[in-house]
Amino acid sequence: MTKSRSEHLDVLIVGAGLSGIGAAVHLKKESPNQKLAIIEGRDNLGGTWDLFRYPGIRSDSDMYTLGYGFKPWTKERAIANGESILDYLWETVSENELKQHIRFGHHVRRAEWSSEAQVWTVTVVHLGETFDITCKFLFMCSGYYNYRRGFTPEFPGRERFTGTVVHPQFWPEDLEYAGKKIIVIGSGATAITLIPNLATKAEKVTMVQRSPSYLAIDQAIDQRALRIRRLFGDRIGYALIRFRNTKRQQRTYEFAQSRPDQFKETLFKDIRELVGQDYLDKHFTPTYQPWDQRVCLIPDGDFFQAIKFGRADVETGKIRTFTESGIELESGERIDADIIVTATGLELVSLGEVDFVVDGELIDFSKRWTYKGLAFSGIPNLAFTFGYVNTSWTVRAELVAKFVSRLLNHMDKAGASSVTPTLRPGDSFMPRESFVEGFTSGYFQRANGVLPRQGNRAPWINPQNHAATKKLLTARIDDGVLKFAHC
Ligand SMILES: Cc1cc2nc3c(=O)[nH]c(=O)nc-3n(C[C@H](O)[C@H](O)[C@H](O)COP(=O)(O)OP(=O)(O)OC[C@H]3O[C@@H](n4cnc5c(N)ncnc54)[C@H](O)[C@@H]3O)c2cc1C
Repeated sequence: MTKSRSEHLDVLIVGAGLSGIGAAVHLKKESPNQKLAIIEGRDNLGGTWDLFRYPGIRSDSDMYTLGYGFKPWTKERAIANGESILDYLWETVSENELKQHIRFGHHVRRAEWSSEAQVWTVTVVHLGETFDITCKFLFMCSGYYNYRRGFTPEFPGRERFTGTVVHPQFWPEDLEYAGKKIIVIGSGATAITLIPNLATKAEKVTMVQRSPSYLAIDQAIDQRALRIRRLFGDRIGYALIRFRNTKRQQRTYEFAQSRPDQFKETLFKDIRELVGQDYLDKHFTPTYQPWDQRVCLIPDGDFFQAIKFGRADVETGKIRTFTESGIELESGERIDADIIVTATGLELVSLGEVDFVVDGELIDFSKRWTYKGLAFSGIPNLAFTFGYVNTSWTVRAELVAKFVSRLLNHMDKAGASSVTPTLRPGDSFMPRESFVEGFTSGYFQRANGVLPRQGNRAPWINPQNHAATKKLLTARIDDGVLKFAHC
């Protein structure tokens, strides 16, 4: 039975990951009058960086951009492991006195907006008890994937395999893999991270991929960044490096889009040097264009070093079936294993799998237009954070948080009780583009039914270009599309 705890908040943030913690810091500083709380379903903060515990878990982009603009990353490694990212987040919480605002182990199930009362009623489950909290504004920082299960395709004969099958999202703490033969199925960032780490103890690790991904070798420790920090100190140095790296990520993306062949060659050159042309042609030459899917980072070439020294190998081809002792490919090739790791990806969900109801109507987000990639047409007092796919997530997450702060301040000043992005005449005839245009990664393809659409004109767009996003999110609040109610 749902109980009502008579608690009312101005802003309820859902999720205490990188986005939720960052959002709370911005709101506290920039909108200090708002009474806020962070509701977090898990018993720790960090989201992604707490959930994933597989060997070698690390960032896939540099911490100078994955870190917050307001808190310098002061560790030596630019590519950081999960534990040091969690430490950084805990430091952020403590420096900004956020702990008292976080409700751990509280899971949001349903959110119901009443236009009459101008309020969200949010149903929360904590230790088996279900209760409601009301709030004026809901800020969803709930990430983008399912925390309860990863994506695993149906593999024929899976039940025949007598060894252990593991999904990296749920890595067993006590999994003994020293001296074992391991197959890692997948070609994305997780597989690429896992393989060199497993290979340090395993007898042999074989990567089985259906098709290759683009892989970019870079340094785990950015020596130039360290020099800049020594020269300018942590705070100014960090700001300079963050600016440089954001620009560099964007330039690299644009270069890859405009001159794909030249871009490919810059990646292939490094790989060729380490494993040779034959291996490159056979296993690391994708059929799609660079950045149609995320390019995976290889810090210090560790993945290729494992191949070079014979501790890891790659097979490219379709799996016909699992066998008692491993996997058989359609080519007839058989690979033996004691452990099979299904690094086959994430399952995208929309807004923390919360049921949203507006004045009695259950909302299907895939039928809505996105407002600036942070809100939805026709849904009042709701924002969400979704980072860039081609630049570090946090760079966009902070722009969203600052926008929400300005919006709340504007509402307070205007005495508005609600704000609703509302289509102008003609807007509903816009062509419906996918939420992230031109990105063909499997998990985005599978998520068509849960993500909103973007149109072809501002503000109904979600650009993956930082300059365009910055312009969009720093524009004046009162844009004629946001409709304010005063009740
Ligand atoms: C293995 C891995 C590595 C990655 N590496 C990078 C990288 O290097 N660079 C990059 O830019 N991006 C990376 N990403 C993307 C990454 O998810 C983001 O960078 C970032 O961590 C997302 O933060 P977030 O707070 O938005 O979401 P999350 O980290 O997913 O956190 C969301 C939080 O919301 C909580 N939550 C969700 N629903 C509810 C609910 N209904 N009720 C209560 N609480 C709820 C969850 O428990 C979780 O704590 C990576 C992703 C993965 C999976």
